[in-house]
Amino acid sequence: MAATVDSPETRIYLDHGATSWPKPPGVIEAVANGLTVLAANPGRGAYRFALDTSRAIHSARRDVATFLGVADTHDLSFQPGCTQAMNLVLLGLLVPGDRVVACSMEHNAVARPLNALAARGVEVVVVDADEAGVVDADEVEAVVAAGRTRAVVCQHAGNVTGAIQPIPDLGDIAHANGALLLVDGAQAGGHLPVDLGRLGADAWACSGHKGLLGPQGVGVLYLAPTCEPAELVSGGTGGGSSEDPLQPLARPERYEAGTPNTPGILGLGASVRFLSEHAEELRSHEAVLVRQLHEGILDLDGFSVLGPSLGAPRVPIVSVVHDRISADRLAFALDRRYGVAARAGLHCAPWAHRTLGTVDAGALRFGLGYGNTPDDVGTVLNALRELVGELT
Ligand code: PLP
Repeated sequence: MAATVDSPETRIYLDHGATSWPKPPGVIEAVANGLTVLAANPGRGAYRFALDTSRAIHSARRDVATFLGVADTHDLSFQPGCTQAMNLVLLGLLVPGDRVVACSMEHNAVARPLNALAARGVEVVVVDADEAGVVDADEVEAVVAAGRTRAVVCQHAGNVTGAIQPIPDLGDIAHANGALLLVDGAQAGGHLPVDLGRLGADAWACSGHKGLLGPQGVGVLYLAPTCEPAELVSGGTGGGSSEDPLQPLARPERYEAGTPNTPGILGLGASVRFLSEHAEELRSHEAVLVRQLHEGILDLDGFSVLGPSLGAPRVPIVSVVHDRISADRLAFALDRRYGVAARAGLHCAPWAHRTLGTVDAGALRFGLGYGNTPDDVGTVLNALRELVGELT
């Protein structure tokens, strides 16, 4: 698919793992609508301006729920992002004395709250993923069964490797052992078909601005009826003020205190409507680009690709290391000389890089997505070839 927006500095944007850009048709208009036409505070006043805004938010919630296979819209709350959502789930659920089993590929959105919980007396057991970045379900099962486990937490797809975790198996394992499965879906939403009615996750969180192609500042949290974390934030929900001194327990209000991000939510509604029609086409397109990039990099001198082997399933993330040139140096040269935006470093995932043996120098990550073309990939491969010739 052709990009519809360009920026003077960036010709080739390959950091979709961080955030998607450009946004698909309708998103900018929907955000603007949330600041102009549907801009009253929703769920508060009973005048038509406010009611229209509430209805628009309801429609966005319904469209996101349908796209993700959520049958009851009450189970889907809008959050500022995946970080906030995973913090809500972990900090709202786990108390000192609980035991939680996590995968070693987790992003800091999960690792940091887990570290904080460990300091408060929650037992955190981390299961190492293999060299492809995939956790082994049998190993998880053994660790889960070795103690009274309250929850298993795992990413759906890796932001360093693009690897896809065996989430349905982990759901079965967690449930057979009386535990909940909590999933960080930040890199999965949009890039993988997600049916939350069947996935087996008791909680699933996602950023709105990555594969879901919406604006920054909005995300979603699905909570199955089996999962009822305490709210992290209490405040206005637009109702119940006379009878409820505490945060009401009704969903989604319990998890949506304060004025919502109406422009962001409407933008996300528009991007998900776009995805409802185009996601499959987009995924096939991304898979072709991933293969082209992966294959091309393997042909270059000194590079290796982290994560799944060529052709194995992955979301459109390809991270590479070179045996003589640092990721930082490559990223800098790609940007300044070739107009290619790609991210070097640890990608907010030191656990993952430790697992892969790349924590000292990090990696160079290409996150492919909406708007990228085979020509973009060709340009990147030529640029890398030139840089290897010059810098080694
Ligand atoms: N989890 C994973 C796997 C991610 O890749 C990211 C973002 O990079 C997050 C969580 C956090 O998402 P956000 O920054 O949108 O809150």
